[in-house]
Amino acid sequence: MSQAVLISVLDMIKKMLQNDEPYDKILDFIDKSTRDVQLQALREQIIKCTACEIHNCNHTPFTGNIYSEIMFVGEGPGTEEEKQGVPFVGPAGQLFNKMLDALAQQVHPRWAREKVFISNVVKCWPKSDDPHRTVRQPTTKEIAACKAFLDKEIELIRPRVIICVGSVAASVLIHPNFKMTEEHGRFFGDDPKLIAIYHPSYILRRGEETDEGVELKIQCWNDLLAVNDFLEKNSTETQTHG
Ligand code: SF4
Repeated sequence: MSQAVLISVLDMIKKMLQNDEPYDKILDFIDKSTRDVQLQALREQIIKCTACEIHNCNHTPFTGNIYSEIMFVGEGPGTEEEKQGVPFVGPAGQLFNKMLDALAQQVHPRWAREKVFISNVVKCWPKSDDPHRTVRQPTTKEIAACKAFLDKEIELIRPRVIICVGSVAASVLIHPNFKMTEEHGRFFGDDPKLIAIYHPSYILRRGEETDEGVELKIQCWNDLLAVNDFLEKNSTETQTHG
């Protein structure tokens, strides 16, 4: 923590004590400040990381609301994500954003992109050798090397629901033999709950406007509505999330 940040946090705590703010509110403020600082440190570690072979690129750490109840986990950055250092901003990201916008407008504002937390299984671009593709699936070695970062993010964010975007994230976080066609939209685990949806890049590859693509989008939408129903019944947002 920089000296300036430390001073402003201590100053705020002092003011809260002087104003006789409730004890829970002060503890919540300390907890959030600590998480902020730890996530900032984690971001810096990710940016400098050289733990696996794909490190030679612009690293793409997490983005979004660190107090969100909803955490999306994708596979890894592609060319556009690598360029900007932000997850889900390429063509698949645009489809992902369209889905979030529609949910935020039609279902609940909690789905706005800036209100959810977004990350990937690997933070560096798994560049493809195939001239027809710019990105490949990360290897098990790369996923294992990066897993500690993802675990730490989950520990600090404390989401109510983790939405695995695509089968790679689902096989890392739900179970290794995850079958998207059979298991998407099903809840696993307890706290956090885990669920998987089709990756937007898969939908784009099948043709967004084809019958199959439209059907896949409907399935994603329904799976996300199931998450929304779960949060409607189980949200702790007003108590513990800002
Ligand atoms: Fe480090 Fe993860 Fe990037 Fe590999 S993919 S270099 S483990 S940040």
